[in-house]
Amino acid sequence: MQSPPDYHMHTPLCKHASGEPVDYARHALALGLTEIGFSDHSPMRRDDFDDWRMLNQQLDEYVENVRRAQSEFPQLTIRLALEVDYLPGHEEWIRDLAARHPWDYFIGSVHYVSDDWAVDNPHKLAEWKHRDPFEVWSVYFERLTMAAASGLFQIIGHADLPKKFGHRPTRDCTPLYEQFLTAARQNHCAMELNTAGLRKDCQEIYPSRALLELAFQHNLPITFGSDAHAPTEVGLNFAEAIQLAHAVGYRESGRFRQRRCELVKF
Ligand SMILES: [Zn+2]
Ligand SMILES: [Zn+2]
Repeated sequence: MQSPPDYHMHTPLCKHASGEPVDYARHALALGLTEIGFSDHSPMRRDDFDDWRMLNQQLDEYVENVRRAQSEFPQLTIRLALEVDYLPGHEEWIRDLAARHPWDYFIGSVHYVSDDWAVDNPHKLAEWKHRDPFEVWSVYFERLTMAAASGLFQIIGHADLPKKFGHRPTRDCTPLYEQFLTAARQNHCAMELNTAGLRKDCQEIYPSRALLELAFQHNLPITFGSDAHAPTEVGLNFAEAIQLAHAVGYRESGRFRQRRCELVKF
């Protein structure tokens, strides 16, 4: 059985990752992967929006770095992608980015629940003291639903990211999940199983088993991603992610080329 591709990997251009694309590719080959995809944090329209992403003027350099890995490792399929922040009102900008290079896919991620709070930012952990987890989940999933409905993304990233530091709502979130999954299904979005959650306080893959079970009921395709910020994180904990996907009923995952999805057994 073939391992699914690792579709979520970063590069040093985002200022919080190490190792060049060639190093990630070398590691992927050593693991026996046949396909990977780079999806570094996309630039925002304004470079001073925050400080954990590439600048606008670095987008071409990013593409060149990925192209270099492609030509150095022709035996490995390497996809060109971005992890793009979804914020309401940024749709035009995202369309603009999409037109600049022949991307294989965009991972749509919600990190920001307001213009100045990214729920996964460890420097903003204090913010949680003033927040009710269910309210955060509600705003977050409202945005994630809008991201899915925008039609701008092929994959939705780390779908229950607000659990990162261990905060969890006590109220039932099923209606929030249903709304998101319906929009994702209608707009042909896949959802990623992101193993980075296993390395955080929540100690759980994104998304939770409950959300993944609902996704399976909605017939939503899945992809796999390590969210690697270093070459040694490529493919990390994929065995657990594959086991979870199997347990829920999944037998196929999505592969993307030029934003078209093909389902392949894993
Ligand atoms: Zn990152
Ligand atoms: Zn992310």
